[in-house]
Amino acid sequence: MGFWFEEAASPGHRLQWKVIRELYSGTSDFQNIHIVETEEFGVAMILDEIMQTTAGDEFIYHEMLASVPLLSHPHPSRVLIIGGGDGGLAREVLKVPGVDTVVMVEIDPLVIEVARRFLPGHTQSLNDPRLTIQCEDGAAYVRATAHSRDKFDVILVDSTDPEGDGPGQFLYTPAFHTDILGALSPGGIYVQHTGAPFYNPEVLTDVSRDVARQFPICQVYWCAIPTYPGGIFTFTAGSLGPDLTHPQRTAPYPTRYYTPAIHAAAFVLPPFLQELVGPSKDGGTRA
Ligand code: SAM
Repeated sequence: MGFWFEEAASPGHRLQWKVIRELYSGTSDFQNIHIVETEEFGVAMILDEIMQTTAGDEFIYHEMLASVPLLSHPHPSRVLIIGGGDGGLAREVLKVPGVDTVVMVEIDPLVIEVARRFLPGHTQSLNDPRLTIQCEDGAAYVRATAHSRDKFDVILVDSTDPEGDGPGQFLYTPAFHTDILGALSPGGIYVQHTGAPFYNPEVLTDVSRDVARQFPICQVYWCAIPTYPGGIFTFTAGSLGPDLTHPQRTAPYPTRYYTPAIHAAAFVLPPFLQELVGPSKDGGTRA
């Protein structure tokens, strides 16, 4: 019989997925966690009533959050992931040649446990010997790293959205970006998702303008993700050197969305996005 899962993208727009059956429902110290089997997008993870990832279209988001920065960096060996408990981003990062150390700092161990049970396509690389999983607040981990010698070449934030009172909200603040600067090695690259501009334009505006203020280079790119509100989904990058708008290396691994041409095109912003990001050239804003 099934039912419809409904997500409120905004007060005036709701998205619905036809659910065949619910596979898991639970509450951790941080959020409500649901796993459902949807008719059109396969198995999906929902956190605090927000669709996080589906087996059907997760490749788009994870390929673009991993391949764009990692193929723009000349030699990314140490990578830090904040969030990413479903495992999809770690899977993509570990495909990139030269990556020898990945630390995934996920605040909620129950997300990882549930993903291992119900999202095998996402979690296939979680036993890779190069991967270390820390279950703690990513903000605290980055702050500690900023005061240590163990820096990272690339830092990727794959967290829940900043809206509401979830654990992801501090990851969108200027103070966090300052800590990120301290945790990056020379020539490092930082990327975080900055959401769906039709529904939360202030996230993209606030983050891109603060990253442009604190980093020598700030560049925004986007892709189309069917199960995120409005389809258009953005990423904001801060760089200490590399220009992300063109890949320095090709992807010697199979991809279903990412290509070098898609990489370059992703930085071409339609005017309404450019306005949200502020004055820039080729999708890049230089401080
Ligand atoms: N792809 C999804 C998206 O675009 O919204 C993100 C999916 S992933 C499951 C989001 C993860 O971020 C969750 O598992 C959540 O527990 C984690 N998270 C949120 N805030 C965090 C924090 N401060 N430190 C570490 N992990 C955090």
